[in-house]
Amino acid sequence: MTALAEAPAHPWTCAVCGENPAVHAAAVPGIPNAVFPYCRPCTTAMAHPYDVLVNHTAAEYAGQLDDAPAFWRDVVARTLRHLRIAPADFHADVTAEMVRASG
Ligand SMILES: [Zn+2]
Repeated sequence: MTALAEAPAHPWTCAVCGENPAVHAAAVPGIPNAVFPYCRPCTTAMAHPYDVLVNHTAAEYAGQLDDAPAFWRDVVARTLRHLRIAPADFHADVTAEMVRASG
């Protein structure tokens, strides 16, 4: 579930949807070293790579999205909406990542 393990097969495929050709590279808000290719629809939706959000929420906010800063909750909400992922599934994936990370 790391960003590197989930890197797209082609460097110019969008890292968010994994389908469309990327039109530019950008950083995930709050994670300046996490730079990925984005397509136009994902850019417009202000969505970001799902696994990065799962990992960062687990590592930086101890899995507690409610305790995260407003900008981060917004990043997650926009991404889940765009990718049509249920918040409950996100929370389950964050929990699984925390269990995995704790070894
Ligand atoms: Zn995309």
